[in-house]
Amino acid sequence: MSDTPNPTPPAQRLIVNPLLGDRVVQTPGRMNRREGATVCPFCADIAAGRWPDDQPTWARPNDFPPLRPPLGECYVLLYAREHDLTFVQLGQERVAAVVDLWQQIYLDLSARYACVMTFENSGEAIGQTQHHPHGQTYGVSFLPPTIERELAHVTAAYAQTGTCLFCQVVAGEAGGPRVVVETPHWLGFVPQWARYPYEVHLYARTHVANIGALPRGGDAARELATALIQLVGAYDTLYEAPMPYMLALHQLADERYHFHIELLPVGRAPGKLKFAASAESAFGLWLNDAVPEIKAAELRTVLAGGQ
Ligand SMILES: [Zn+2]
Ligand SMILES: [Zn+2]
Repeated sequence: MSDTPNPTPPAQRLIVNPLLGDRVVQTPGRMNRREGATVCPFCADIAAGRWPDDQPTWARPNDFPPLRPPLGECYVLLYAREHDLTFVQLGQERVAAVVDLWQQIYLDLSARYACVMTFENSGEAIGQTQHHPHGQTYGVSFLPPTIERELAHVTAAYAQTGTCLFCQVVAGEAGGPRVVVETPHWLGFVPQWARYPYEVHLYARTHVANIGALPRGGDAARELATALIQLVGAYDTLYEAPMPYMLALHQLADERYHFHIELLPVGRAPGKLKFAASAESAFGLWLNDAVPEIKAAELRTVLAGGQ
């Protein structure tokens, strides 16, 4: 490598690992974000009248964006004006508004970017720095490695079978022992390849490529809000506290792709976390301390009110 030290770091730099093909974004400005700040910047927005009165949710520009144009754009997705609510406490109406915000931001950013990464990091254990209920969105000009790999496998499957690999997964899981949530529009299950004990993937039952393709305010959007509240609530019950989790919308403006949400809860038992340690981080080999069928049964019991 011929790079020489640069006394003025660039605002951002996209590097491709020549050994793996993975991308790394270097974004030194984020080192100074507001851990430990005593004033919530989002409550300050409300006090200053910056949050438009007619919007129940708000896509606010990220003050410490890891990506800037032309590489990307980053927003904080504010879920509610109330500072202290957990995702479950938001309730049906406000989570439905969150789903609507996910749809709006997708439609906006997908016009300019190759991928819209909408996600949430919940809990200090996985790096949440602001407690006001929120998620995030990055519009990115390239495909994140995981989405790229999924698309490659799906494309290969189309060539082989002529059908969507994700749809095959939905058909294979429906009615099976790993199912956790079933609604007319969604199937939630602990995938056979789960990395975290309580990992749940929520798939659209019909083939849609992204959340922007769902009718806004329709049954599918409402069912999604209900399912997410139930799942996160079940995590909290099993963890006996708010379980730290990641939530990621996997979507693309590509009809071969199939919209799904991955819930990656990092709790494995009350007070115990699953870390991406050496096997996972250094070797890419995930060790799951649990069997998906058993964890799915536990989640079903909690969701049925049996615990
Ligand atoms: Zn706040
Ligand atoms: Zn499909």
